[in-house]
Amino acid sequence: MENKNNIYPIFDRMLTKQDKEELLGQRSVMIWFTGLSGSGKSTIAIALERELHKRGLLCRILDGDNIRSGINNNLGFSEADRIENIRRIAEVSKLFIDSGIITIAAFISPNNDVREMAANIIGHEQFLEVYVSTPLEECEKRDVKGLYAKARKGEIKDFTGVSAPFEAPQHPALALDTSMLTVEQSVNKLLEMILPKVQM
Ligand code: ADP
Repeated sequence: MENKNNIYPIFDRMLTKQDKEELLGQRSVMIWFTGLSGSGKSTIAIALERELHKRGLLCRILDGDNIRSGINNNLGFSEADRIENIRRIAEVSKLFIDSGIITIAAFISPNNDVREMAANIIGHEQFLEVYVSTPLEECEKRDVKGLYAKARKGEIKDFTGVSAPFEAPQHPALALDTSMLTVEQSVNKLLEMILPKVQM
């Protein structure tokens, strides 16, 4: 039996991702950086965001600083917590993506399984995996945060690249070795890939 209270007219529905994209005049994608600590993920993410912003494109960066200190401040570095860390990052990213925003995540995300989980949550068709493939020796030489030195001394256990494995992505949308590319060159390669996908 039809009950008119159960009929929801179209204007009662939540606006869609497409509505948001129309409003912003852009299409959203997920740029998922993966790579060793110190490989250049955050540096490139920040430079990329500036270039996209200059072109009138709205972006959101998610990185260790705004995630580990906030939504994930109850998580540690156990295997289960590392997976939960990435799961939440992917779920939060999806909210931004669904709001039409170009979302950029910069996390080590060291194995195929966690990256696959993130892609499944976000949707493979809008998930662009960018492998910052800077060799370990170069990352360790930079040692921006002094973490490699600590890991070598055994002060940090399960440190990716030193005492925990990093699985290179098999089919990244793009690979950037920052021992060979300047930040500007990396950003230009990214823009070439991203602009056709996001501009309306
Ligand atoms: P991650 O986010 O991967 O841990 P960061 O971006 O925090 O890495 O650190 C990378 C470091 O390497 C920064 O200090 C950056 O200035 C330096 N660096 C040197 N050359 C490059 C390059 N060509 N591309 C990116 N980063 C570079």
